[in-house]
Amino acid sequence: MKADGVIPTVPIFGIRVSKVDMAATVSYLTDAIRDRAAHQVITANPIMVMAALENPAYMEIMKSAELVVPDGTGVVWAAEYCKQPVAERVAGFDLLHELLRTGESYNWRVYLLGSTPEVIRETASRLQTGYPGIIIAGYRDGYFGPESDEEVLTDILEAKPDLLFVARGADSQEPWIAKHKARLQIPVMMGVGGSFDVISGKSRRAPKAFQKLRAEWLYRLLKEPTRYKRMLALPRFAVKVVREKDKVTKEQ
Ligand code: UDP
Repeated sequence: MKADGVIPTVPIFGIRVSKVDMAATVSYLTDAIRDRAAHQVITANPIMVMAALENPAYMEIMKSAELVVPDGTGVVWAAEYCKQPVAERVAGFDLLHELLRTGESYNWRVYLLGSTPEVIRETASRLQTGYPGIIIAGYRDGYFGPESDEEVLTDILEAKPDLLFVARGADSQEPWIAKHKARLQIPVMMGVGGSFDVISGKSRRAPKAFQKLRAEWLYRLLKEPTRYKRMLALPRFAVKVVREKDKVTKEQ
């Protein structure tokens, strides 16, 4: 990381993706918590990049995030292909755990938002057992509409968290955080997708073999074939990167 605390990035179709490794990411966010500087952290994958290219409002959210990390293998590959490689893949699931591990020595306060009431209760309990040094300052499920936003925001603000993890699916969690981040002003506000389902034991993360082959997406596709439609974004992303190689990392 640079001495001034600014994270080096590579633009992927105009979205500034962090180039630093997991350790530097955690250290940067630790400073953010110390300085009470609000950060929306987005864990980018090709599906989200393609969604942003097709939807200006979503692009605006990706661009205004304070930190975008390369979660998807496809994003890591694109940066490498365009000769501006990132240090390593920074998966949201791993980042969540690394932050909690680090947070143990600071007694960070964590708010968990999303998934079903059953899953979130079990997630809160397992994380508290796994990381006794952190404080689960609050949690609630993610099945609510805009009419409940005010109540949810009040509950989060009263809990005074250092970190807010939101698991509501990429279509809605990132826009929800973006909409409310100015009010929330939490140092780390991060969408974590299906992570609570995995932590609670409801679903499984891809086995190591798939992870090694950089094919977690394939595992998910096999487990949830209905995902195939949105996964068509993966080959479309790859084709676009190859076709537009000279434009991919151009400043916009
Ligand atoms: N979820 C939620 N509220 C909703 C929809 C989904 O809290 O209105 C939760 C869901 O229970 C799961 C997580 O969001 O824990 C991710 O959902 P999904 O896998 O459908 O989203 P994706 O990651 O595929 O976008």
